[in-house]
This record gives sequence, structure tokens and C-alpha cells, in this order.
Amino acid sequence: MKTLFRNLWLADGALSPLRRAAVLVDGERILGVEPEITASAADRTVELRGRILAPGFLDVHGHSDLSLMARPEGFGKVSQGISCEIMGNCGLSAFPLSRENREHLEELWAQYGTALDWEDFSGWRAALRNRSARLRAEALVGHNTLRAAVAGYENETLSSVQLETMKQLLARELDAGAPGLSTGLLYVPGKFAPPGEVVELMRVVAAHDKIYATHLRSEGNELLESLDETIECALRAGLKKVHISHFKTAGCANWGKLDGALERLESARAAGIRITVDRYPWTESMTQLSVILPGKAGDLDDSSLARLLANAEERQRVAAELAASRPADYWAGVTLVSTRCAKFRGDGGGTIAALAEREQLSPAELVVDLLAADAAGTTAAFRGMSEENLRRILSLPFCMMGSDESARPADDSIGRSHPRGFGSAARFLRRLLDAGSPIEAVVHRMTGLAAETFGLPELGRIEPGKTADFAAFDPEEVDATADFANPHSPAAGVLFTMVGGEFVYRA
Ligand SMILES: [Zn+2]
Repeated sequence: MKTLFRNLWLADGALSPLRRAAVLVDGERILGVEPEITASAADRTVELRGRILAPGFLDVHGHSDLSLMARPEGFGKVSQGISCEIMGNCGLSAFPLSRENREHLEELWAQYGTALDWEDFSGWRAALRNRSARLRAEALVGHNTLRAAVAGYENETLSSVQLETMKQLLARELDAGAPGLSTGLLYVPGKFAPPGEVVELMRVVAAHDKIYATHLRSEGNELLESLDETIECALRAGLKKVHISHFKTAGCANWGKLDGALERLESARAAGIRITVDRYPWTESMTQLSVILPGKAGDLDDSSLARLLANAEERQRVAAELAASRPADYWAGVTLVSTRCAKFRGDGGGTIAALAEREQLSPAELVVDLLAADAAGTTAAFRGMSEENLRRILSLPFCMMGSDESARPADDSIGRSHPRGFGSAARFLRRLLDAGSPIEAVVHRMTGLAAETFGLPELGRIEPGKTADFAAFDPEEVDATADFANPHSPAAGVLFTMVGGEFVYRA
């Protein structure tokens, strides 16, 4: 089947100025890109009426590892022009699985109703392919999953045998096609890893000429120290490709650190490290609500936390500790996004402060109740990022688009999304176009640059021979419509998305 796209402005992903062109596709591949191609060359013709044809957008930071199996249509992503997502982020990948980590991950992903019947990268990929996922999926090897496969979720220093096993597993997955390694050094068990362990793994990544993407140990109070740690480790390991995930300055006390952070990125680049970042265009983060627990409770994996909070005395103790660790005005900035706790299932979008008042509980007591009912699946959005810093980060020429979300359907059957799950690509475009960036430069960051950075040479360009993944959009209209009240509202101004020569979304 040959398809001709015409009457369009081409943003080819390679930074070339916009130009009028016609694009001919044969099956999965781009056959021709010419100023004019006659309709008789194709079986069907798609008229774009002067809108933009771009390579499909790459979401370089997603978490659809399991959600895409549950709902292979990937609606939240494809409806905003995303054709490919890099998964396995923040240290959390769906492989390698072993007796040590399988039960924990089954619990974490129970809401998706998918049996984890694979062991490695290739098995995970085959499972996704068997479900005919509409979104193209790539996945980094997650350090937390990898470490847990060898040593479980305990606070342990690894033996040299365990470290060697991790390195071999990592090498196996990179050889099988995983584009790199991700860490989530804020989470259990990645937080227990000393820098030396990360250096050893980086050496494996460097030997494969792949990328290391990191959710830093701290994105706030110790942001600069965490960047220093990352760069020092990369230099020690001889690693050239480093990517900082969802780059931010978290907490208003840390907003002044952006200059220092950017200086560190520049000096790393000067030292020969190709350092890149991604960002979702919102100032609220979202993660598991359990990350705010202080002390020992904060070091527990989801199942152990649920066991601890089954005890009423422990619940009281954890709530008291939590209350003491946060200022009273903190809770108005924390919004419940999703939970399987039956009582609060319909309360996504409400702040912890408001919900606690309604329930006549203290905010900390409410949090503990939510976690006792659903430690793994309760997620919240946290206010605490600077609008001005967001603007500056988005303007960096090496900043790509990363939604930090799972692909979800239009309904909330597999949990509610942060609005970034339905609007990141569209808002990334809108904000940068409004700030005066040329269309081809914004598109380049979302496509060609992203594909090159993550080692995907078939993607990200509209050129003969490349894969036929496209996003078509109207540059006047494109924008997110999702917000915390209506997070599953699809983006405006996206005409269609094509993956491997097939329409996966049409407005
Ligand atoms: Zn993360």
C-alpha cells in the first residue's frame, strides 16, 4: 500500500527550514520526499491543507512498560502525535525479572492485570508485540529492577559476585537492543547504591556506546551535589552519553540553583560528555505518594510498607513522623491523582489539605490511610517547581520532550493520569512556538535529536529509507487541553499520528 501526503509544510526532523513537499510512503518505509509527486504514484492520497508534517514525536521519558499491554491503543500518547516512547525510566523497567523482584513488580503493576510472563528485554518486547501495541516502544534497563533481580529490595551493599551478575545481566539486555541504562537514585533500592556501583554499570554502558539516563538522587536540596555525582561517575567510567531525566529545581528553596546546575551541564559538555535533558511542560511533578514518607518507612518497598501500615499503632507512628517532617502549608500543594483505595477513588484532582478537612483527619493521617489501602498505586502531584525555571529549561537546545507518564486510555480504568500524559508534546510545541522558536527547531528536538540521542537511527527524520512514523499538526491550534480536573482530555491541533505506515490516531 502506497500513501501520498501532500499540500503540506515539511518539518523533516533534521533542522532544515520548513519547505513545501510531498511525501510518498510504501508500507513501513518512506519512499520519496519531493517538491511534488503525482497522485497516480500512490494507492491513496492524504491532503494536509497547509498543515505541518513532522516525524512522529519521541517521548524520551515514559512509563508505559505495562500500561501499554493493558491498553495497547496508547491513546493518551498517540493522540498528541507521539509515535515512540522510551520506557524503562527512573530505574524501573519490566526486565530483567527473577525470583527476587517478580513478586514486588507484580504487586506494583497489579492494576494492569497483565501476567509478567517474561524474563528479559526480548521477552518483554515480544509480549508487547503480541498485544499489537499501537505505540512504538523502546526501553532502557532500569537499575532498580536490575539491582532487585540480583539482591532484592533491601538496604545492602552488593558483594562483588552480585555486582558482576548485574553487569552481565545489563550487558545481555544492551546486546539484545535496549538503548541504555536508567537509574532512579531516589527510589528503593537504587537509593542504596553507592557511586562506585553506578560507575561499574556505566562502564558496561560505555563499552556498548549506549546512554545513561538518570533520575537524580536529589532534584531539590542536593540537586547540585547529585549532578556532580553523575558527572564525576561518568568521567570515571569514560561514559560519553548522559541524560538527565525530567530536569528541574524542586522546592522553592532550590529555585536559585538553576544557574549552578546549568554551569555543571556546560562544564560536563566541555569535558566531552554529551549531556542532554528532558522535561514535561508542567510545574507539578507526580509520583507515588509514598515517596514523602520520612525515616524507616521511606526505605520500605511497597509490599513491606503495606504490611507495616496494616498495624494501627504503626500507622499512628508514621503519621506523626510525617506530620513533623512537613510545614503545615505543604499539604495544599499536594494533589491526589490516582488511588485504588475505594473510598477516595473518585477524588483525583483534590488536594490532600482539602480531602483531609472533609474527612476530619490531619493531612498526614489521610496520607497514611491512603497508603495503607494502596501503597503501590496511590499517586500524587506535588507543587514546587518554578515557572521561570521551566521556561529556561524548555529553551535549552538540548532539552527534549519527556512526558514522565504512562500511556492511558481515554477512560480511567487503569488509573488517572497527570495532564502531562495527554498533553506534554502538544504543550511543549505550543510553549516553544509562542516563545518564538522556529517550528523546525522545536520539531527537531522532539524527533531527530531525540532519535539520535537514544540511538534510534531509523526514526526521527522524514527522508527516503526511514521508518514512516509521522505526526501532523496545525501550528496555530496545537496545545494541551488536559488539566488536573480533566487530565484525559486529548490535545488540540493534532491531525493524525502514523506508526510504521499505519494510522494509529486520526482527529
Ligand atoms: Zn523519575
